[in-house]
Amino acid sequence: QRVGYAVVGLGKLTAEELIPAIRTSQHARLAALVTSEKDKGLALAHASGLTDDDVYAYDDFERLAERDDVDAVFIVLPNSMHREFVERAARMGKHVLCEKPLSTNVADAQAMVDACRAAGVLLMTAYRCQYTPEHWAVRDAVQSGRLGTIRTIDSIHSHTEEDAQAWRMRREYAGGGPLVDVGIYSLNIIRFVLGKEPLWVFADLNQPQGDPRFAEIEERVAWMMGFEGGIVANCLTSYASRDTSALRVVGEAGKVEMDPAFNYTCLDFTLTDKEAAHRPRFASYDQFGNEVDHFAQCIREGKTPWTPGEEGVADHIVMDAIYESARTGQRVTLKLPAGQDPFR
Ligand code: NAD
Repeated sequence: QRVGYAVVGLGKLTAEELIPAIRTSQHARLAALVTSEKDKGLALAHASGLTDDDVYAYDDFERLAERDDVDAVFIVLPNSMHREFVERAARMGKHVLCEKPLSTNVADAQAMVDACRAAGVLLMTAYRCQYTPEHWAVRDAVQSGRLGTIRTIDSIHSHTEEDAQAWRMRREYAGGGPLVDVGIYSLNIIRFVLGKEPLWVFADLNQPQGDPRFAEIEERVAWMMGFEGGIVANCLTSYASRDTSALRVVGEAGKVEMDPAFNYTCLDFTLTDKEAAHRPRFASYDQFGNEVDHFAQCIREGKTPWTPGEEGVADHIVMDAIYESARTGQRVTLKLPAGQDPFR
């Protein structure tokens, strides 16, 4: 029995990536669409094998409670709307897959985790890059010791945004600029490959005056993260730079390079050890298909997803510290449990 998804928010990602991925997945099934744009909803429904009755307005969202064939809700709305819809889904007893960033700040993200726990439903943060063989190969190379002692990591994730009116450029909707939208991939994947939380961050941001795109949000954030063992990560994210999506992990005995590292397809992976550079081939896959299948299996088996809501909260904690460091010009120490923080 496939797990039925209702998708909320019919933007570009939903139409071009998520619906096709659900339809070709192994364990998921598209059951309903929720949108403020009825015509768009009907057109997408008809093109996806659904009927008019499967299209819901935001105000009708709670009617999904009557649909036994809807097991999970996939929230694909502007970031500031995630919390409301996650909490509404939890109250209906539906499991929730929520797009990244989980929310716009730590408090809201934590409230979403708490709401789902109280309702007894699963919450997963849609970190697609934690469902690819390439990123797992980086993690394995790091954690198996194949690269030797890890010394440094660097990562860039940038592109150019043109539309100053888009919700992404409005603080109220996005919660921040490129850091919360695309820089989050560098942050999340670095935490994933190391299997460690940063001990401190140090950051600088650029918000050029006179450019209407950056009236409310930053154009660029550059930040460092320090980890146990002296490992340092240097990251950069921008909304006004040529498309770049790169990750490099350098150890004493080897290194891994990915460029592109965070695109939807055609990721590049090279591992260089003492002998040679290796470029393994990976079987083809769909990142979005992998994540919806993973969550479907968790629902069927009652298991916590690999990237639960807590994983989204962890990134918000670091992003808040990055913004604080940029604002104050000071290195910010992250609050680790007592005994684990070498700076205290
Ligand atoms: P989008 O602008 O293409 O679509 C947003 C959807 O929300 C549309 O259906 C729109 O109608 C609806 N909406 C409701 N109220 C709105 C409002 N006030 N302003 C604008 N839209 C409104 O956005 P998107 O690119 O689909 O992003 C949605 C979510 O998905 C975001 O959280 C984003 O970070 C995430 N996302 C993730 C990936 C990924 O690779 N995992 C890629 C793109 C977007």
